Parts: sequence; C-alpha cells; structure tokens
Amino acid sequence: MANYKSLTTEADSKQGYDWFKQLYFLSPDPAWIIEGNRFVECNDAAFKALGYTSPRELLNLHPSKLSPSVQADGEDSFTKAESMMATALKNGLHRFEWIHTRADGSNFDVEVTLSSIAINDRQVIYCIWRDISERKQIEHKLDNERERIKSILNKVTEPIFVKDNKHRLVHANEAFYEMFGMEENFVIGKTLAEHVPENEREQFLAIDRLVLDTGVSDKREETLTLDGNTRTIISSKTRHVDKFGDRFLVGSINDITERKRAEEELEKSDALFRSMAETLPVAIYVSSGLDQICDYVNPSFTKFFGYTKEEVPSISKWWPLAYPDPDYQQSLVDEWQSKVKVAIDNESEIIPMEAVVTCKNGTTKSISWGFTTLGEKNYAFGLDLTERKEAERDQAIAATAFINAQEGMIVTDQDGGILKVNKAFSRITGYSSDEVISRNPRFLQSGREDPKFYTEMWDVINSLGYWDGEIWNRRKNGKAYPEFLTITAVKDGLGKVSNYVATFSDISLSKASADEIKHLAFYDPLTRLPNRRLLLDRLHSAMARMDRSGKECSLLFLDLDNFKNLNDTLGHNVGDLLLQQVAGRLISSVRKCDTVARFGGDEFIVMLADLDKRSLVAVEQTNLIARKILDFLNQPYQLDTHVYKNSASIGITMVENADQSVNVLLKQADIAMYQSKNEGRNTIRFFDPVMQEKLNARTKLEDDLRQALDEQEFELYFQIQVNDENHTLGAEALIRWHHPRRQLLSPEEFIPQAETSGLIFPIGQWVLESACKTLQSWEQSVRTRDLVISVNVSAHQFRQPNFVEHIEALIGNYGVNPNRLKLELTETLILVDVEEAITRMNALKKIGVHLVLDDFGTGYSSLQYLKRLPLELIKIDKSFIQDIETDADDRAIVSTIIAMAKNLNVQVIAEGVETKAQEKFLRSRDCRQFQGYLFGKPVPVEQFVESLKG
Ligand code: C2E
Ligand code: MG
Ligand code: MG
Repeated sequence: MANYKSLTTEADSKQGYDWFKQLYFLSPDPAWIIEGNRFVECNDAAFKALGYTSPRELLNLHPSKLSPSVQADGEDSFTKAESMMATALKNGLHRFEWIHTRADGSNFDVEVTLSSIAINDRQVIYCIWRDISERKQIEHKLDNERERIKSILNKVTEPIFVKDNKHRLVHANEAFYEMFGMEENFVIGKTLAEHVPENEREQFLAIDRLVLDTGVSDKREETLTLDGNTRTIISSKTRHVDKFGDRFLVGSINDITERKRAEEELEKSDALFRSMAETLPVAIYVSSGLDQICDYVNPSFTKFFGYTKEEVPSISKWWPLAYPDPDYQQSLVDEWQSKVKVAIDNESEIIPMEAVVTCKNGTTKSISWGFTTLGEKNYAFGLDLTERKEAERDQAIAATAFINAQEGMIVTDQDGGILKVNKAFSRITGYSSDEVISRNPRFLQSGREDPKFYTEMWDVINSLGYWDGEIWNRRKNGKAYPEFLTITAVKDGLGKVSNYVATFSDISLSKASADEIKHLAFYDPLTRLPNRRLLLDRLHSAMARMDRSGKECSLLFLDLDNFKNLNDTLGHNVGDLLLQQVAGRLISSVRKCDTVARFGGDEFIVMLADLDKRSLVAVEQTNLIARKILDFLNQPYQLDTHVYKNSASIGITMVENADQSVNVLLKQADIAMYQSKNEGRNTIRFFDPVMQEKLNARTKLEDDLRQALDEQEFELYFQIQVNDENHTLGAEALIRWHHPRRQLLSPEEFIPQAETSGLIFPIGQWVLESACKTLQSWEQSVRTRDLVISVNVSAHQFRQPNFVEHIEALIGNYGVNPNRLKLELTETLILVDVEEAITRMNALKKIGVHLVLDDFGTGYSSLQYLKRLPLELIKIDKSFIQDIETDADDRAIVSTIIAMAKNLNVQVIAEGVETKAQEKFLRSRDCRQFQGYLFGKPVPVEQFVESLKG
C-alpha cells in the first residue's frame, strides 16, 4: 500500500492550496482526490453520499473497493478503475459511468469525472461524481418501453416502419421484413429512396419530407424493391413527435402486390375475353350485381336476336322480351333454379339450359344457354341451335316420309350397295328389305333397256347430280313393269358423292294416261312436235352432254315467209295444213339425235346436236342441213285443193359452250332469222354480233321517228315531172326528215322502219295532208293551178280498211280537185290480195284519184292481173333507165314495158332520167313522160314553185 501523506499540510496552505481545499470541501457534489490509485482526500458530500460517517473510513482505499466487483458493462471493477484512472492521467480529463456501493451495500449509478491535476508537485486525480441513478432508471424504463413497443409492433401483422427526421429507417417490424422475405435490420439506418423506382424517387422523398415537416398524413401506392423482391404497396405515413421533441415518420403498409397482379391478370383475361367475345358466333350477355345490370352484349348477341345493349339494360328488362309468354318464362325460371341447385351440388361451372328465344323481329331461335358467374359478373353464353334443330326436325320428317312414302325408295352407298329401302319398295318390287340390303339395285333390271341407256343415265347423274325418266324394271315375280325413276346423288360437305337416293313410282297403270298428259304438256298438239318447254329441256340436256363430249350444237330459228298471207287468203285450216307438212319435212330433214320443235305460230326451232368438235366444221355441217331444209321447204305443198309454194327464213346460232344462256342463244337465232328475212327471205343467216348493234340502232331510230312527228321534223320535197314537150305536168312528193342530230335523211333510211313499227300510218297521213295543203295553195296561182302531185303510198297504208274513205275525206276537207292527186302504189300491195287491191283501186278511181304503179319491173307482177288493175300510169323503175345506154337487156326490157303499156292502154313515165341520151332513147321508144335529175332534183316546195318561173 502506498504511503499516505496528507495534502493538508501547512506547506500546502502556503502554496495556495487553501482556496482549492475550501472549494473542494464545500462542494455540494461528492468529490475526492486520488493519488497513487488510492483515496487521499474526500469531501463531506462524498462520504455522506456513500453512507459513511467519516472520511477516514475511505482513506487509502482503492476506488474499486467502493463498488461491486463487476460494473454494468460486465467489466471487473478493479481493472476498469485502473484503466479509467490511467486514461485520466494520460488525457487530463476523463468521464465515464460507474456503479458505487454504499456502506449499507446498496449500489447506485454515478457519472464520474476524473481530472489529472498537480498539487505540491504531486500528480493527483481530482474526482467528482454525480448520482445518476435516477436518470439511469428512466433510461432503463425507456429501454424497456422500447422493447415492449417493438414486441407489440412485431405482433402486428401489417408491415410497419419508423423513420427518423432524416428519412432513415430506424425501425421496421417483422411483418415488414417478412413481406420482402429478408433478414431483419437489413436496411436499418438507411433511407428507402434508393429502393423505389428511379422515376418515383423524388416524389417519394418529397412525401416523406412533407409528412415530417407539416404533420399531414399521406397514403399512396408505392413500389419498393428490397433484397431483390419487388412489392406494390399502399403506404400510409403519419408524423410522430416524441417527448424529447424528436420527429418520426411512422408508416404502415398494405401489400397489394398480389391484388395488383390479380387485377392485371384479370385485365388481361378481360381483354382476351373481349376479343374472343367480339368474334365468337356465340351470343354473350354479361351482367353484374344482384340486379343483373347489363354490362355487355357481344356482336353475335345483337346479330342473333336483334337487340342492342341499350335495348336490354338488365335481365329483368330482357327476359320479358326474350320470353314474352309468361308461362314459358316461369317454366324457364323454375328450370333455371333447379339447375343452379344441381350445379352448386356438383360444383359444375357452367349451367346449361335450352330455350326458345323470341328475337326482336318476332322470329324465334332455339338457343342452348350456358350460365356462369365469375366474381360479381354473370355470364350467359348462347349457341344458336335453330339450324341444327331444323335439320333434326327435317331429318325426322324425312325419316317418316321415307318410311311411309307412297313412292318406292332406295338409299345406296356411293358404290351402289343398298343401305335402306322403304315399305313402298317392298310393295312394288315384292322384295323384302332383308333380301336386298347391300345388293346393287342392278338385279331389278328388266333387260328391256339397252346397256347404252344405263351408261347415258349414269353420265347424266355424274354430271348433273340427278336423273329422272322412265325405266322398265322387273318384280320378284318376274314381271316387268314401267316405273318413273328419279336418282339423286347426295354429296357430302366436300362435294363427294356419299349416297344415291332413288325414288320410283309404279306407272304401269297410269303410263298410258301419263303419256298423254306428258304429250299435252310437252308437245304441240297441231304438229305433234316438241313444244317450247320440251325444246328448252332438251337444249339443257344437250348442252350438258356437250360439256362432256365437246361436240357442238346449233340452233336454227325458222320462220315461214308470208305465212300470214296464206292464213288471210286461204284460211286457218289451210295454214294448219301447211304447218303440219312443214313439221313433217323438217323431221325428215334431220337426224334422230336432233330436235325439231314448234316455237309458236309459224316459227320452228331445229336443234342440231352432236356436231363436230371443231367449230368451223360444225358451222359447215349446220349450213348444209339448213340448205337442205330450205330446199325441201321450197318444194310445192299440196294444201287441200291448192298447190302452194312457200319459203322460209332461217337464223342460226352456234352453241359453242355449255355455259351460254339458253335465252341468249334463242335471241341470237331470232336476230339472225330477222336478218335473213331482211335480206330477201328464203335465206339462211348465221348470227352475227354486229347484227345486234344494228338492231339497237334500229330501236333508237324508231324512238327518234316517234318524236319526229311531234316535233314536225318532216318536210315534203317536190321533183318535177315533164312531158315530151317539156311541159311541166306536176311533181312527185318525196318525204325528207330533218333529223335533229343527223343530216337530212332520205326516206330509204327510215320508211322501212316506219313500216315495221306501224309509224307509217301517221307519217303517211301527214304526207297526204301536206300534199293536199300544197295543192290547195297552188290553186291560187295560174302557174301551179293545173299541176298534179304524185304521192307515194306504202302497202301497209293502202291495206288499211278505211283507206279509201280517208282519201275521200281529205279531198273534201281541203277542197282540192281529185284529178290533181296521183297515188303511187307498188306491186307488193297487190301481191298479197289481188282481189281486195283491185276493189280498192276501183273505189279510188271512182273518186277521181289517179293511180300509178311505181317501180315497175322490179316485182313479179304478172301481166295476168296487170290487165285488171285500173291504172293510168306505169312508172318504169330507175334501175332500168340507169344503164339504158350500156345494157342491151335493160333497153329490151324498157322497150317491152312501153310496148306492153301501150297495148294495155296505160301511159308510161320513166324515172331516174339523168342524161340527154337516156331521154333520147326513151323518146325514140315513144315514152312521153319523164322524171329525173335531168329535169330537176327533189327540192322544197318554195324552190320548186320558184323554178317554174324560169
Ligand atoms: P320512188 O317513189 O321510186 O322515188 C323516186 C326516188 O328516185 C326518189 O328518191 C328520188 O329522189 C330518186 N330520183 C329521182 N330522180 C333521180 C335521178 O335522176 N337519179 C337518181 N339516182 N335518183 C333519182 P327518194 O326521195 O330518196 O325516195 C326514195 C323512195 O322512198 C321512193 O322511191 C319511195 O318509194 C319512198 N318514198 C318517198 N317519199 C315517200 C312517202 O311520202 N311515202 C312513202 N310511203 N314512201 C315514200
Ligand atoms: Mg315514187
Ligand atoms: Mg320509183
């Protein structure tokens, strides 16, 4: 033990130690002085605080003697005291916590401050200490409190965290760490900002700051990634201020990662559902809530039922529309409820139900419903079974019909093996079903048809898909019988024949009468030729055959020339005789494979089949047959007592491929026939598309003609007629048309059309009236008073029943002298009905009108009746005059005509006289009247009158 030497020596006081001693002893805080690690001085406060009665009790003690053997930090008191003191001596000042033991043995906490000081050259330690047991107690309590809170927070399942005012994480509960699946304290003392996505970081910190600064709580969605684990959270942050005034941020977390994921999944599956729903041919109705408010109907729903979403806003609004019958609706509700029960029991997901839904347009559909519920949504899926149901019903009907049909029926497989026969089959053939199954129906053949018949029949079935016709089969008892058989090929979805269905009826009884009916339906009763219907039928089959064989066909459209005249003159009975004989000649002119049909009236169609495959050869073959027909038809007919000559006009069209329309073909042949009529009859013309165009142009001209009358586009031109003394006799009135879009049209360009269209009547009327008007006006002048106007009259016009009365009325109306009107007639009008023509001409002559036979020499006028005609004048056609100088024949004809006229006491006028030489020749033959360009061209009336002056 070190030598104890009191510090309080006299020398000490001299050294100024007194004031220190004063301070030290009076200090309310416990203090002592340590020298050589032993107490050397101790104040009152110190020994009292320790429960001692005198400082002496402490002197020379090592500081650790006033302590428990071990300190709060677990260090041995002696060692700790030694090291504390050494530190104080080294550093001059040292503070630490310590546990003292009182005299009574109780311990208490103190805070010790050691200062190294020098007194009287002695280095000592001045020690003061403060009882801190109270503070320690508080601290201890606080620690406990914290632990408690911590354990409480750890019990909370919701993740919770605490941040200090620098945003550093100071605490997080177990749930927080669990959420990320990481170790505790992993991020303690760090800010979480670096764990949120970079673009959210700034806002994240701003929110923390805001909560800490203002105390406003916040709640929002955040994304945190900790330890590689990303969570989507709703974090609620509030500020907390502790009793020391420190601010903390306390946050609680709602982990919504799974919910989010589920939501996204739902969104994805929702999108998938949508896209499927938009395209599926299934009606979909989605509703939600107890009221089943409609959220969605897909396009198929609207397509099936006609209702839009707006029209079916909820189940309660839609069902009454879909099932308007309350009983039916109730029965569905009942069924529905019972099904739901079953579904719940069996945990089935989609509940099926079939129902007949009424659509918006009133029709009904058989729907197979499936109902299901997902979350809050109800889904109804409807499959349209209407067609299937109908098919099932049809099948049921067909099956019943099959069994009970009056007609025999056989169903075979694609190879002809019998699969099924019905009752009627057994009744008619005598075979039971068992006897025939899997056999080929060939065993029913009677042997009456030749093998070619069957080949052809199968050819037709294979190309057209069906065949019908009469056939002889044999019954089980050996008797042959006729049946009407229809064979239909049944094709599968790929167009391949899967079955054949044969239907037949025994027609042995009805055959005779059926034949007759068929004949009536398909044959012309007069000629016994196939009629239009049968022809079309045969044409169709021929074209089908042609498609396979490549062999061409042709159609001849034949129209008898002037048949109407025969009918009109000799009566219909004779006309009928001619038609019958024509039919006979036609039949004998063609081959067996061809068809001759009567198309109507005097029109016949000859269909030539099996012509050569090469088009040109086929045309030649057709032409040859057509010629043969024409020649044959030109031979005289013996009709009753009359011997009659007739001809025909034939139009032909070639059937070059099977795709052509039958109607178009017939039209073409008709057009060609028309052309051959136009070209002088008794001829053959092949259809030519150009002809079609001409036809169109004609139709157009006809329309224009009609308009011309209303628009007064016609004008009469006058061409002078003179006698041998060059004296003007009068003029021929020749019509002209001022066509609005074309140049002046000559009559040759429109009169024929006017005749065929019937427009010749109003036009002819106009000409006659204009001529009469002109005559009337000419009365006024000496120069024109005696002139005669010659008017051309068309045969059609002339044949009008009241033609004569008409002329008479005109003359009366205009008050003209009938002698000054000449009518130019052509031979054709006489040809048709000579007697009638003569009567009419006489009537006209009686009125005083003169008659001229125009274009003489061009027709077939026989002198026989020329004699009987009340003619004053014959007009030699200009075609003879034209070549008079060069053509000896023409000269002879003209000479003969003039001589003959003289004999008949008829005057002659030559038209088309263009040259002096022509005039000279005519004069030499005693022709006294002339018309032609040599004397004047046809000109408008004013010009004509003007020319007379010169
Ligand atoms: P057409 O009655 O034989 O008339 C004579 C035609 O010969 C007229 O032709 C006339 O212009 C023409 N011509 C006269 N002199 C000569 C000549 O020297 N050389 C030549 N090359 N030709 C001459 P256009 O006016 O074209 O009349 C043609 C036919 O139209 C007439 O022949 C007549 O049949 C008919 N036609 C004219 N006007 C009428 C009418 O008002 N009604 C009826 N139904 N037919 C009419
Ligand atoms: Mg004339
Ligand atoms: Mg003439």
